[in-house]
Formats: sequence, structure tokens, C-alpha cells
Amino acid sequence: MTDIVSHWIDGAPAAGEGDRSGDIYNPAVGEKIGEVPFATAAEVNKAVAAAAAAFPAWAASPPIRRARVIFKFKELIDANKEEMGKIITREHGKVLSDAVGSVTRGLEVLEFACGIPHLLKGEFTASVGTGVDSFSMRQPLGVVAGITPFNFPAMVPMWMFPLALACGNTFVLKPSEKDPSAAIMMAELLKEAGCPPGVFNVVHGDKVAVDAILAHPDVAAVSFVGSTPIAEYIYTTGCANGKRVQALGGAKNHAVVMPDADLDMTTDALIGAAYGSAGERCMAVSVAVAVGDKAGDALIEGLKPKIEQIKVGPGTDADAEMGPLVTKQHLEKVRGYVDLGLEEGAELVMDGRDFSLQGYENGYFMGPCLFDRVTPEMRIYKEEIFGPVLAVVRAADYDAAVKLVNDHEFGNGVAIFTRDGDAARDFTERVEIGMVGVNVPIPVPVAYHSFGGWKRSLFGGHNMHGLEGVHFYTKLKTVTSRWPTGIRAGVDLMFPLMS
Ligand code: NAD
Repeated sequence: MTDIVSHWIDGAPAAGEGDRSGDIYNPAVGEKIGEVPFATAAEVNKAVAAAAAAFPAWAASPPIRRARVIFKFKELIDANKEEMGKIITREHGKVLSDAVGSVTRGLEVLEFACGIPHLLKGEFTASVGTGVDSFSMRQPLGVVAGITPFNFPAMVPMWMFPLALACGNTFVLKPSEKDPSAAIMMAELLKEAGCPPGVFNVVHGDKVAVDAILAHPDVAAVSFVGSTPIAEYIYTTGCANGKRVQALGGAKNHAVVMPDADLDMTTDALIGAAYGSAGERCMAVSVAVAVGDKAGDALIEGLKPKIEQIKVGPGTDADAEMGPLVTKQHLEKVRGYVDLGLEEGAELVMDGRDFSLQGYENGYFMGPCLFDRVTPEMRIYKEEIFGPVLAVVRAADYDAAVKLVNDHEFGNGVAIFTRDGDAARDFTERVEIGMVGVNVPIPVPVAYHSFGGWKRSLFGGHNMHGLEGVHFYTKLKTVTSRWPTGIRAGVDLMFPLMS
């Protein structure tokens, strides 16, 4: 049986009207399980029109009322997170506990968004001049859009729309066409939570739908998360069309392992960070930089037995720790990178390319791979692989390790493993990366901080969620007021000084 996923426009499901669609697969068995319509420009325009029509009333409703809708939605997400996790596992492949965990991280943004009355409070200064007061307020932008990747079909949209809605905007989401069902479940739950029609809309599709969003004059802002080439395209096109844009891109996250690091703790951390979710996380560690040859040897020896113990299996299997990759094409791409690493001269210490699981022979599985003696010129070092492949690079000393991290084109996350407080402090100061961990392998900021990388991992001026999110989704207005009963200055053509 295959499901036909619908769009969600103006508070109700909307069947696709175009003649293009995509297939949805269950990556664990390699079978088609559904179809998703690809929106035409006309369908995108309908969603934007619904959002634009809903905007004035939603923006005018008191923030506390919007917070109540978000609060109710948060409760519904909490009550349904197992169900949502199952939907994610079915279409994405990641193991159920991981899928549910990612929903919980999204839920934390909802909790933060519930504080919107406080977060929107402006500043007030009495008597900026004689009888003159000044105050600021943050107002919503209008219709905003979110374009999201396959790897977190619930969490990444929840980085965006809860705050956007809480701030008084209306929203059009274009989720990944590979795992689109979680977005529709969120739309249904939002409706149940009391969200008025048109406030939240979902259109599925590919570049055609994205381009229609980018071209639409009524879309005031675009939030994007995905690969770097597309992030750059969204940013340049969106900005050229006069929109506010935040576009988060790809990553190559390094973990610097100092000679004094606690090896057992470090290898445990690296296993989870490199192979969790089959490496399909933008904060996955894909490069371990061993400082000194001795540390390199110890790291490889410490990692090998732990990699051997990783249980690869379907996400529905409670014992499985690592599921399949998302699509056959992606599996072939990741395997191709492992072939390339060998051609480039890296040492393949653990080879998961031929992994096969009885009963799941058509699933998109591969086992964890470990490369040693990877060097900065190699493509397997430079490019994002987005699979269960960890590359160990050996740096002569600490300065060489920092230079390596800083010279890389991506700047999403990084971690240092050490017992040396001086080294850790120096590292956090000097490293050119947006999110830094000290003995923490995946330093994803919590909801009330903000998520975002540097360099070619983020285009635009604002990170996601936290106060940065509130600022992205609002315009600042500053009011200076005087009342006629105050002191009158008479006619004055001079530059307006408040004193
Ligand atoms: P992707 O760039 O292929 O797709 C992301 C979105 O863009 C999808 O909705 C897709 O339909 C759309 N899209 C794809 N091609 C397009 C085109 N030519 N024109 C317009 N739109 C297009 O990314 P993906 O494969 O879904 O996700 C994996 C990538 O996302 C990785 O690079 C990963 O690092 C990145 N990612 C980054 C973060 C972060 O916070 N920086 C978080 C999660 C994922």
C-alpha cells in the first residue's frame, strides 16, 4: 500500500494539482511506500495567498493568545512524539529512539516560543528629552517561508515555524520531498491546537516550488536549512528579490583530540557523533584530528573495537543503533566516497561498504567506515560525505590542528577533547566555527540559545531559534513621543537634539 501525501493549504489537506510527483521509500527495505505531489507555482501562490490573508488577524492577536496555541501544540507534539518518531523512521530510516529524540529537541523550541509575550517586550526610556519618551517594539514581517532538509523532518521545521508564528507571522513550509509526512502531521496537530486556517501551510516539491517561493513578492523572509550550494542559491536569490534570508548549509565537523584527552570518553563520544543517525546529521563529527602521532595510534586502536560493536539494523528494531541511509542514490554516493578515499591514498581501517543484513538485502544499509592518515588535500577531507564515515587526520601539534579547522571552508561545529583548561580556553577563542564543544562532541545549542555555523555553513545574519530567531522573524520599530501638554519648543529648524 502506498500513501499519497497531500499539501496543506488554508487549514485543510490539498491534493496536488500538477502532473509531477516524487516517490517516498522505506530505506530499511528499499521499497516505495508513498508518493508526494510536487507543487506547481500556482499551488505555491495559493498557499502564500492563504498565509497573506490570515496574516492581519494573526498579527493583531495578542502574543499571549498566540503563545496559548503554541502551548497546546507543544502538548500535542509531546503526546504524539512516538507516533511522529515512527513516521520519521519509516521514511528517513533513523532508529526510533533517535527519531523521537529529535522531535523532543524540536519540542524545546516550542517551549521557548511559549515565552513570546516576554520575548517581544520592547525597551522604554522615559525622558530621552524634556517631555519626550522613547520605546521600541518588534513587529512581525508578514508571510515567511521555511525550506527544510531530509535529515530532521520535524526538528528543523520546528526550529523555524513555532517562533515565526509566535512572533505573529504566517508560514509556508516546503519540507524535504524525501520524508514529507511529518510536516503534514504537524499541520494537523497545529489545527487541533487552535491555529487558524492559513496561518500554517505546507507545500511539497522541488526546485519549482522553491523558486516560486523565492520569486513571490508577498514572501517577506525565507529560512533555509540544507546543503551549501542550495543554501547559497537561496540566499543570493532571496536577497536579490528583497527578502530577509537565513540559509544554513553543510558541514565538516572536526573533533580535535589532544594527547591528554580521556581516551575512553573521547572514543565513546566520537562513535556516537560520527555514526549516530548513520552520519546524516549536520553536527555529526566527520573528522577526528589527532594531535601527535601517538595520540593518532591510540585513537585508532580505541575506536576499532567500539566500531565493531555498533549494531546496524532497521530503525524499528529496538536493538539497532544505526539505521540505513536515506536513499539508494545517497548510499551509492557515500560508498563512492569510500572508494575515492582509497584511491586518494587514505588507509581504510574499517570498511562497511559491503554490509548486508539478512531479510533487509534491499535496504540502503552500510556499515561504519574509518579512515586513517587522511590529509587536507583529499576530497574525502574537503567535501561533506554525510554518511557513516569518520576520517582521522594527524596534526603535528595543537597549532597545526587549529589551523586545519580554521582553513576548512565549513564552520558549523567543532569539539576539542582535552583535560587542559588553558588549551580549551585558547581553542574556544581562536577557532573559526559557530558552535564549539569542550569534551562535548555535538555541541547543538539548546532552544533558548541559537543554532548556526560560520563561513560557508551559514549565509545571512541570523542564527536559528533563541533570541536570534525572534530578531529574524520581527522588525524593530522605535517610537519617540511627545504630548502637547509638555514643554513646547516653538519652531526650530536646527538638527533635532532632544536636550
Ligand atoms: P538539500 O540541499 O538537497 O535540500 C534541502 C532543501 O532544498 C529540500 O527541501 C530540497 O527540496 C530543496 N532543494 C534541493 N535542491 C534544490 C534546488 N536545486 N533548488 C531549490 N531547492 C532545492 O539538502 P538535503 O540533502 O535534504 O539535506 C542534507 C544537507 O543539509 C546536508 O548538507 C546537511 O549538512 C545540511 N543540513 C544542515 C544543517 C545546519 O543546521 N547547518 C542542518 C541539517 C542539515
